[in-house]
Amino acid sequence: MPQTSLMTQIPSLSPTFPSLLPKVGTTVFTVMSALATQHKAINLGQGFPDFPCDRDLIGHVNQAMLNDLNQYPPMIGIPELRNGIAEKIKQLYGHQYDADAEITVTAGGTQGILTAILCCVSPGDEVVIIEPAYDSYRPSIELAGGKVIAVSLQAMRDNENQVSSYEIPWDQLEKVIHSNTRLIMINTPHNPTGMVWKKSDLDKLAKLVRNTNTLILSDEVYEHMVYDGVMHESIASHPELVNRSFLISSFGKTYHVTGWKVGYIAAPVAMMKEFRKVHQFNVFTVNTPMQYGLAKYLEEPNHYLKLPDFYQAKRDFFKSSLAKTGFKLLPTPGTYFQCVDYSKIKSPQIKLNEADFCKWLTTEIGVAAIPVSAFYETPIESGVIRFCFAKKEQTLTDALQRLEQL
Ligand code: GLN
Repeated sequence: MPQTSLMTQIPSLSPTFPSLLPKVGTTVFTVMSALATQHKAINLGQGFPDFPCDRDLIGHVNQAMLNDLNQYPPMIGIPELRNGIAEKIKQLYGHQYDADAEITVTAGGTQGILTAILCCVSPGDEVVIIEPAYDSYRPSIELAGGKVIAVSLQAMRDNENQVSSYEIPWDQLEKVIHSNTRLIMINTPHNPTGMVWKKSDLDKLAKLVRNTNTLILSDEVYEHMVYDGVMHESIASHPELVNRSFLISSFGKTYHVTGWKVGYIAAPVAMMKEFRKVHQFNVFTVNTPMQYGLAKYLEEPNHYLKLPDFYQAKRDFFKSSLAKTGFKLLPTPGTYFQCVDYSKIKSPQIKLNEADFCKWLTTEIGVAAIPVSAFYETPIESGVIRFCFAKKEQTLTDALQRLEQL
C-alpha cells in the first residue's frame, strides 16, 4: 500500500488545552528589543548594559572551567558563593543569614521570584502587588493559582499636571492587607519608576503585617544602584520584617552579566526549606563555573560598592542633555532607569498612548523605550515612559542626539 494512503488513515491530532495564562503575550522587553533591532533604533528599552563586564570576572569563570569544575554543583549553590553572599548581606545590612540553610543560588532573579511564589501560594491565596509592577509578578502568582490584589503607586503631579514622583499608597495597602493575605511583593529600588523605599516605609509595612501570617517577597535586584548618597533599605536591614521575608537579588544586574542568569534568594530557614523543595525540581542546579567565578569576584567588595558612583555618572550625563528636550524628567533615586513624562514635548505624538508613543519613538526617532503602562494589568496612561541608561557614553550620546529634536 502506498505510504500516502496509510497517512490518510491516521486521524489528525491537534491537542488543545486551556491556557494557564490566557492574557499573557510576549513580554514588552522582548517586543521592544525586537522592534529596536528591526528599525536599527538605539535600544534604551530593555534593561541591560551594552558595555562589557570586568575581564577579571570572565577570567575567574574561565579558570573554573579549566579547573574541571563543570559538573553539577550542590542543588542549593556552591558553599563558596553562599558564604560570600551571607557575608555581603551581613556587612551591608546587618542580618546574619545561615549560608547553608537560608541562602540558595538561583537562575536569576525572575526564577527566584517564581519559585518563591510557587512554594508558598496555594490556589485562592491573596497576593498583594504594587503597580506599576515588574511584568513577571502577576503571571507567576496566577501560575500558583493565587489571586492578585493590585494597588497602585500614587503618581504625584506638579502644577503643570505632569508626573513628578511616585508614593507608596499606604491607605490602599491598609485596606487590602488582612490576616489571610499570603504574600506581599515589594521592589526597591523600583523598576520602572526608580523610587526607593525608606526605613520609615519598612516600619509602616512591619506595622501592617505584625499580627498576620503574611509573608514578604522583596525584589532588590537593583540594590547597588542608589544615588545622591541615598542608602538602599534592604528587608535584611529590618530585624522584624526579615523574619518573614524572601530577599531576591541578581548578579546579572550587579556585575553587568544579565545573560548569565545567576541570582540568589535568602529567607528564614523554614521558608527556605519550602523554597528548595520547588527549586530542586524546576531548576535543580545553577551552572557551576559561573558560581565559582562569581564567588571569587564577590571577595572584593569594591566591585559592588563602586556601582552607585559608576551609574550615577551615567544617570547625570543622560539627564543633563535630556533636560534640554521637552521631556519632563522624573526623579531617579535608584535603578538604571530614567522615567520621563512626554505630555509636553513639541510633537503631535503626545496624543499617543504610552505603548504607541514608544513604538513611534523607536520607528521614527530611532530610540527604543518602555511604556510604564506595560507594568499594569489594566494600563494606566500617565504619559510616562522608561529609558535605560546602563549604556556606554557613546550610546547615550547617539540617543540624545536623536531625542534632541523633541
Ligand atoms: N529587568 C529588565 C527590564 O526591566 C528586563 C528583563 C527581561 O527582559 N525580562 O528591562
